[in-house]
Amino acid sequence: MLIDSHTHLEMPDFKKDLEVVIQRAKESGIEYIFTVGTEKKDWKRALEIANSHSSIYAILGVHPHNAKEIDDQTYPMLKELCRDGKVKAYGEIGLDFFRNLSPREIQLRRFREQIGLAKELGLPIVVHDREAHQETLEILKSEKAEECGGIIHCFSGDYGMAKVCIDMGFYISIPGTITFKNAERFREIVQRIPLDSLLVETDAPFLTPEPFRGKRNEPSYVRYTAQKLAEIKKVSFEKVAEVTTENALRVYKLA
Ligand SMILES: [Zn+2]
Ligand SMILES: [Zn+2]
Repeated sequence: MLIDSHTHLEMPDFKKDLEVVIQRAKESGIEYIFTVGTEKKDWKRALEIANSHSSIYAILGVHPHNAKEIDDQTYPMLKELCRDGKVKAYGEIGLDFFRNLSPREIQLRRFREQIGLAKELGLPIVVHDREAHQETLEILKSEKAEECGGIIHCFSGDYGMAKVCIDMGFYISIPGTITFKNAERFREIVQRIPLDSLLVETDAPFLTPEPFRGKRNEPSYVRYTAQKLAEIKKVSFEKVAEVTTENALRVYKLA
């Protein structure tokens, strides 16, 4: 049994064959899927998918790319939607200084605000950090994010950053990039992070692992990431599946 802790089934990439994709995940032993609605147009769709499948849960929030779209109606609407029992975390929120689709100042402010909102809602947060490690850590600390805890998704920091986050009660989620040929440094970092703090994710339709790199990603491919993690950790695939599943159930409060 495996869990895809972070994916985007509401995105148009899955419009044509969503049910087939979900079925394929089931057949591959993916017990639960957490689908992340990152902007207003996706929230209801993500919830709809979660509410029509017992194996799927939702995560809602405003992605740093969309931070500039937040207006007076955004937070009241999210508060309402997050009351649904199928919503298990708030996110993904954070900073993306690689693409900078929203101005940095706005990203910083909205990240802080949304940590506050997640705490109010009693939900763990899912953090997106791309090329903003220092600023992400500063905000997690100053906003006392240890009070909600959560997940650093698609982790791309160094071991020191992982350690700080774990000490604050966060889990570190590993995407398919761990399978890439040129990811040797990333694998060395992950090798040092205790399995007890790790999750696996696809972030589908993005970041497709080998051997399917270049094609659309989907939840069933999370097993290639788990397989690579087993190699790196020198433990069995079953052990990785068991521990990452326990971790995901714990952080999402399903166990
Ligand atoms: Zn992300
Ligand atoms: Zn994502």
